Amino acid sequence: MVLSGPSGSGKSTLARRLVDEHDGVVFSVSATTRERRKGEQEGVDYYFLSREKFQADIDAGLFLEHARVFGDHLYGTPRAPVEAALGRGLDVALEIDVQGGVQIKKAVEDAVMIFILPPSPEILAERLRARGREDETAIQRRLQEVPKELGYAAHYEYLVINDDLDTAYEQLCAIRQAEKCRFDHRSKKLRWKI
Ligand code: 5GP
Repeated sequence: MVLSGPSGSGKSTLARRLVDEHDGVVFSVSATTRERRKGEQEGVDYYFLSREKFQADIDAGLFLEHARVFGDHLYGTPRAPVEAALGRGLDVALEIDVQGGVQIKKAVEDAVMIFILPPSPEILAERLRARGREDETAIQRRLQEVPKELGYAAHYEYLVINDDLDTAYEQLCAIRQAEKCRFDHRSKKLRWKI
């Protein structure tokens, strides 16, 4: 399950909650070259890599997707944990940017593409300021990215508007249920010959 959307859309909160409340879903921990923020843990929030190590991993084909996000930092999805989880029949939640999302759509046959948006540009700006994580310059840079991110929205199959978090979460769970009931998905696992 690929969750993308502007910074401040609530996609991390939604993805983490989905994983916490469902045994069958694991979170894909990304690698990044950005610096670790206060409170972030290696291997839990991200794998924090040097640029050299990140490039070496790209060259070795260790990423399922990778992209430069917000201008200066590289982010990528390590391939092995995703393939291992899928092989065990688990679902994987990937909270990644739109460039990465498009790469996953091409690479993973059963990818479910979900775009998360706040109700309005004004509410997005308010939420970014309220969380107090970035300074005003970084917030402006994130807001400037939004039109570009929306330009990728057509690659996504579902749109969740995160006005009320609980409602958005219910919709996310409903999408997962509906995907599990898709005829092509379900019929592969049946003892019926269809
Ligand atoms: P942050 O630095 O605030 O944690 O994340 C910045 C952006 O990078 C977010 O939009 C997030 O979705 C994106 N991102 C995080 N991990 C990955 C990844 O593995 N691949 C890609 N393409 N984007 C990622």
